[in-house]
Amino acid sequence: MNIILLGAPGAGKGTQAEVMCKELGIPTISTGNMLRAAVKAGTEYGLKAKAAMDAGALVSDDIVIGILKDRIAEPDAQNGFILDGFPRTVPQAEALDNMGVQIDKVIELAVEDEKIKSRLSGRRVCLDCGATYHVVTKAPKVEGVCDVCGKELVIRKDDEPATVISRLETYHKTTAPLVDYYSKQGKLVTVHGTDSVAETNDLVLAALKG
Ligand code: ADP
Ligand code: ZN
Repeated sequence: MNIILLGAPGAGKGTQAEVMCKELGIPTISTGNMLRAAVKAGTEYGLKAKAAMDAGALVSDDIVIGILKDRIAEPDAQNGFILDGFPRTVPQAEALDNMGVQIDKVIELAVEDEKIKSRLSGRRVCLDCGATYHVVTKAPKVEGVCDVCGKELVIRKDDEPATVISRLETYHKTTAPLVDYYSKQGKLVTVHGTDSVAETNDLVLAALKG
């Protein structure tokens, strides 16, 4: 089963990807996490991606398509995968189709912009293992410390308010056309992301089965 999670930044794609990963036993592939790891490691494409990421802009299609292609060729992805944050542009979706990747379902997590803005302002991330938290809705056991690996939690540079506004604009302009793209392919299921994580989990699991 190959699944795409579509949704604005902060819609809860990462959290839902984890839920599905447990349910289906297939890996989550997050281009955002892979790019952040590349930036941290100082690889060639990490250096190229950093400026765009800090500004909240998209990294070039060439780079992300290349990373994604390598990742889905790995052994653990052969029984299926959940894509979190890819595709984000129509050319990226076309690249997937051209690679011959069969997508079974596209789950759109729909959340209003106002809600997104407040969610992202409370988001904290572990730069070491990629785990994400929220100061109100998903607080770590110890403030500022990652439950998973014990490292320090930080505010992502691109979660600063001005950057969030431009990320939302980019989402509406460049990524939202994918709703139509996959709807035409008969693969789209829209789930309204509620404030209750447990409730959203149930809706997503129902969408998977339906
Ligand atoms: P969010 O969904 O919260 O915006 P991600 O962790 O998915 O965050 O992505 C962080 C950043 O990484 C994006 O703002 C963008 O710069 C880059 N990125 C991730 N995935 C893609 C993609 N598919 N295409 C282009 N840029 C991407
Ligand atoms: Zn961690």
